[in-house]
Amino acid sequence: MSAQQEIIIIGAGAAGLIAAKDLSTQHNVTILEARPQAGGRTTTLYPAPGIHIETGAEFIHGELPITLSLLQEAGIPYHPINEEMALAENGELKQEESWIEDWDNLIEHMGKAAETTTMQQLLDQYYPADQYAELRDHVQGYVEGYDLADLNKVSVKYLYDEWTLEQGTNFRIENGYTALINYLGKGCTIITNQTVQIISWEPGKVTVTTQDRTYTAHKVLVTVPINILQNESIQFSLALPAYTAAARQIGWGTVIKFNLLFKQAFWKRDIGFVLSDEEVPVWWTQSEDSLILTGWLGGPHAAGPQSDLLAKALNSLSKIFNVTNIADLLEQSFIHNWSTEQAIHGGYSYGMPGSEKAKAVLTTPVADTIYFAGEALYTGDSPGTVEAALHSGKEITIKIKSPQ
Ligand SMILES: Cc1cc2nc3c(=O)[nH]c(=O)nc-3n(C[C@H](O)[C@H](O)[C@H](O)COP(=O)(O)OP(=O)(O)OC[C@H]3O[C@@H](n4cnc5c(N)ncnc54)[C@H](O)[C@@H]3O)c2cc1C
Repeated sequence: MSAQQEIIIIGAGAAGLIAAKDLSTQHNVTILEARPQAGGRTTTLYPAPGIHIETGAEFIHGELPITLSLLQEAGIPYHPINEEMALAENGELKQEESWIEDWDNLIEHMGKAAETTTMQQLLDQYYPADQYAELRDHVQGYVEGYDLADLNKVSVKYLYDEWTLEQGTNFRIENGYTALINYLGKGCTIITNQTVQIISWEPGKVTVTTQDRTYTAHKVLVTVPINILQNESIQFSLALPAYTAAARQIGWGTVIKFNLLFKQAFWKRDIGFVLSDEEVPVWWTQSEDSLILTGWLGGPHAAGPQSDLLAKALNSLSKIFNVTNIADLLEQSFIHNWSTEQAIHGGYSYGMPGSEKAKAVLTTPVADTIYFAGEALYTGDSPGTVEAALHSGKEITIKIKSPQ
């Protein structure tokens, strides 16, 4: 193992923080973060005592080993969620049953598709006719809503792996994900409001320039969202075209998340998840006694600045729950359009044909000096999650500690 080195980590999200926690035992680590606080896409708000709002990540999607072991290590409580699903139709909620014909047949075709096939190509090949309109709509809703993906870009293989995986129980963290972020960040040097613009480098030496300062170190670990690399928002003095090209082979989707706090509940308590055809199509309750309804609009429809989001959300809810005076019942709203969030500009990644190879490029260190990590570079069973970010952050520290 090499002597103590100066390491700069760019980005104080889950990936950057877990890497910092791990590397700080042996090295001198500084995290530079563009936003005013750590957390990135994992940021909880605490607007009033007893109320917390997850602006980004909210669930632990299964028995995920790194996330759960960190929570246990930190003594942070978490609990299973109500996973019931209902379908909203004409002001009524129907429990999920066998909604969609041909689903099993679709999954079978997906399992046999070539690595290069996109979901749109598969639908066009096997389900072109009007009789499949419902199936096509359902697939589109799921791909856009859950995976935040574009049908024309997302790889069938990626969706197949995700849709056929048994997830197990899902959980929420008692006081929100920020509890975990605070645990990871304890003792780390995090300098906020520092947007990295340029990385000047030669093997074994980096100079990182933000809007108003420069920092030097032996190595740099870049954990920014993948679109920051796709757009070359950070410049490298010696360009890394293969890395930029690889970043562009990874899908990047976006989402608007609504948390509406009401004065009283007009819904049957703790209904789990409701799926609808409304403008803001997906909603869920937080718990038995919470007065918050959380809404979700994902995929291409959520891109860019948007107007009247609160009105769209209330209108959707009033139709789903058949309630007329809904605006009068609203106490406070928290709406996060992630495509316009500072230094993030999106939700999470998804797999396109070519993404797996791209991830292999991006996780290869550059001259034992520049390293990349983050949710989008993960290749396991929980893509697009905090677990993915944590896993990627941990993996890269092994490479940093053992130069090739
Ligand atoms: C609305 C929403 C809901 C989600 N729900 C869930 C969920 O329920 N469960 C789940 O597991 N996951 C969920 N996710 C995904 C999860 O939040 C992410 O996968 C994870 O937080 C990514 O962590 P990261 O460290 O890779 O990236 P980030 O958290 O994005 O961290 C990267 C950091 O880099 C900083 N940065 C960017 N550019 C610069 C720069 N130039 N200079 C300095 N700093 C820079 C950013 O500000 C950011 O803080 C959700 C995401 C969103 C947006």
